[in-house]
Amino acid sequence: MTPIPFDNSYARLPERFFARRAPTPVAAPRLIHLNRGLAVDLGLDAEWFAGPEGVTALAGNSVPDGAEPIAAAYAGHQFGNFVPQLGDGRAVLLGEVIDRDGQRRDIQLKGSGPTPFSRRGDGRAALGPVLREYLVSEAMAALGIPTTRALAAVATGERVVRETLLPGAILTRVAASHIRVGTFQFFAARDDVDALRALADHAIVRHYPEALGAEESYLALLEGIVARQADLVAAWLNVGFVHGVMNTDNMSVAGETIDYGPCAFLDAYDPRTVYSSIDARGRYAYGKQPGIALWNLTRLAEALLPLLGTEDAAVVKAEAALSAFKPRFEAAYRGGLARKLGLSGASEGDVALADDLLARMAENQADFTLTFRRLCDAAERPEAHTTVRDLFVDPTAYDAWVPRWRERLRAQAPAVTAAAMRTVNPAFVPRNHRVEAMIEAAVERDDFAPFEELLSVLSRPYEDQPSHAHYAEAPEDGGAGYRTYCGT
Ligand code: AMP
Ligand code: MG
Ligand code: MG
Repeated sequence: MTPIPFDNSYARLPERFFARRAPTPVAAPRLIHLNRGLAVDLGLDAEWFAGPEGVTALAGNSVPDGAEPIAAAYAGHQFGNFVPQLGDGRAVLLGEVIDRDGQRRDIQLKGSGPTPFSRRGDGRAALGPVLREYLVSEAMAALGIPTTRALAAVATGERVVRETLLPGAILTRVAASHIRVGTFQFFAARDDVDALRALADHAIVRHYPEALGAEESYLALLEGIVARQADLVAAWLNVGFVHGVMNTDNMSVAGETIDYGPCAFLDAYDPRTVYSSIDARGRYAYGKQPGIALWNLTRLAEALLPLLGTEDAAVVKAEAALSAFKPRFEAAYRGGLARKLGLSGASEGDVALADDLLARMAENQADFTLTFRRLCDAAERPEAHTTVRDLFVDPTAYDAWVPRWRERLRAQAPAVTAAAMRTVNPAFVPRNHRVEAMIEAAVERDDFAPFEELLSVLSRPYEDQPSHAHYAEAPEDGGAGYRTYCGT
């Protein structure tokens, strides 16, 4: 019996879409963590994965029956500069499975050794970034935000050479697909319209089947991708997420958050926040993410032009599709903020009310997650306002805002409002200082208990977990100066 019932549609696309390449075996595989719930959702046998054969497969030391390992070709704009060939330099797609909801999902090993796209890289991943991606992607899923998932993390028993020698690991990543904006750019840059069409057809069947019934299915594909990205970035902003490296090769056309590198969550609210050490100019700052998403989508639209009709007509259609981004984003972001503030229905001053709070938070270095979570309490217990105002450098800045919010909520039942607010304002996000401490314990001391505990807390982000209240706390310095590294 084959433990993984693969059905590999991407490997049936033309050979120039990928390079066939098996993972490179590692010295001493050891299972760090298996996502049993996800395995079950995928219709897979968790016991098999946890056993010796499964761990061997998750390490890339064997290729399970039915897998057709490939490294996908793609291009991409990295920090605005076009690179015509990137591709999976340290990942292989083992294949696809159909999950229990009938959805096709990729199973990919990340850190599984060199491929023809590795350039000067070693094809490997260090333990720290693997644990970060595991934890943050699973936290995003629990927050209800579309994302790739983590099925397993395996230690390789080998060291990888970075600035220092670091323990190596492999992440098993699950995605609706790994088709990126950069995948379309790869073929567009080569004027390979046949491939472009085959890729678009594949993406439509897989992610936007509703486009099949549209008059112009490729235009409908673009419109669908624009809509999902607008919603996705709005969802990011509403939880304080900073992706950190929104290159076009790191944007999934399926609308999932993908490629967790130097990502981080806001502590103190400031839209200019940048965490990535390599993003010196702040291209991918928190508040710039909507604009960058649209920039990336514009690159996608350019790549799709040959499929949209004759030249002039194609440009007009592409521009119309792109023009839907801003209103879609605004509606999603504004709707999200209104829910965060417990405002039911829509009312004239809602935008100003939310913006005024955000401006006061930014001026006063108020913690993003705590402010909104504590507002849930304040909505039903006036005495809880002190816990919110304490988050502001100048608490009177908060006091001056509160009366208008109270007035706006006057007609609503306080307990109902507070309960609704608690479903959108998480108590727990992956706090940067907690993530760093978790990584340090694993890398320096081979201690995975902090990883396990943090993962467990973040699996229920909207529940108060009194025994884990310390995980909700902000760092003492408000997180100022925190940096993430693309440390791969
Ligand atoms: P990223 O910044 O992770 O999105 O990666 C950008 C590109 O660099 C992709 O083509 C990756 O496959 C490749 N890459 C990143 N790290 C490595 C590595 N250690 N070895 C080979 N290729 C890599
Ligand atoms: Mg090939
Ligand atoms: Mg990438």
